Amino acid sequence: MKLKLINKENLTDNIWAFRFEPDEKQSWIPGQFIRVEIPHEQPDEEGAKRWFTVSSAPYEGLMQITTRVTGTTFKRALAAVPVGAEIDMLEAPDGDFVWPDSELPLIFIAGGIGATPFYSMLKQRFHDHQPLGVMLVYGGRTADLPFRAEFDQWAAADPRFKIHYVIGEPLTPAGLTALEPKLNDSLVYLSGPEPMVESLGDQLKASGLPEAQLRQDFFPNYTEANY
Ligand SMILES: Cc1cc2nc3c(=O)[nH]c(=O)nc-3n(C[C@H](O)[C@H](O)[C@H](O)COP(=O)(O)OP(=O)(O)OC[C@H]3O[C@@H](n4cnc5c(N)ncnc54)[C@H](O)[C@@H]3O)c2cc1C
Repeated sequence: MKLKLINKENLTDNIWAFRFEPDEKQSWIPGQFIRVEIPHEQPDEEGAKRWFTVSSAPYEGLMQITTRVTGTTFKRALAAVPVGAEIDMLEAPDGDFVWPDSELPLIFIAGGIGATPFYSMLKQRFHDHQPLGVMLVYGGRTADLPFRAEFDQWAAADPRFKIHYVIGEPLTPAGLTALEPKLNDSLVYLSGPEPMVESLGDQLKASGLPEAQLRQDFFPNYTEANY
């Protein structure tokens, strides 16, 4: 399967959105991911393949990936793809980090670029006039977080959608419980840099969140220093 680059946009800082047209019709559930390959000369040890959330919503037709363009050989190769050129999509969209069918109150916790699956889910639901019944806690090293304007617009339009930004300080069970005292009675989705997701997930379980109420999406190679 091929993805043709239609356009790219610098969202903020070194975060770019790359929008592709698939060569055959793709369907996906918001929150799912794809794996792409961009062959390039002398790839570093991480190689030429990466997983990315499809950060666009299915109604848009185009498949967007949103990522930090850094110094890794893969990211440089991605940034150098000319508009109109194709990259390889290795597998069809997959994953179960999607909007749940649950009666429990819902909490999304994003570390920086980890907001991509939440953005896709909320964008599709907003478009479909479905309720955005979730509290999103969006943590970042700095305030220039991607998707912020749209999240704020959706929160203004739907009072069931609550958003809290936590900038420049770690996300902790105590801080999250201060925002939502019923945290441990909620279904919690956690997405972001792998070390943050692991450590905050462990802390949440240790502070009483049942394991069955925690869903995690790990972004490898991002750390507390670069997410
Ligand atoms: C299910 C799933 C969904 C995902 N969704 C997304 C997503 O939506 N968006 C996303 O961005 N990622 C996503 N990821 C993670 C993605 O696959 C990559 O692991 C991630 O983007 C990191 O890319 P990278 O390895 O190129 O390292 P980067 O994070 O780009 O770089 C790592 C750090 O090392 C430095 N560095 C490393 N090598 C060099 C070098 N040679 N020269 C200079 N500096 C260097 C970089 O500057 C940076 O600070 C997802 C992963 C999974 C499993």
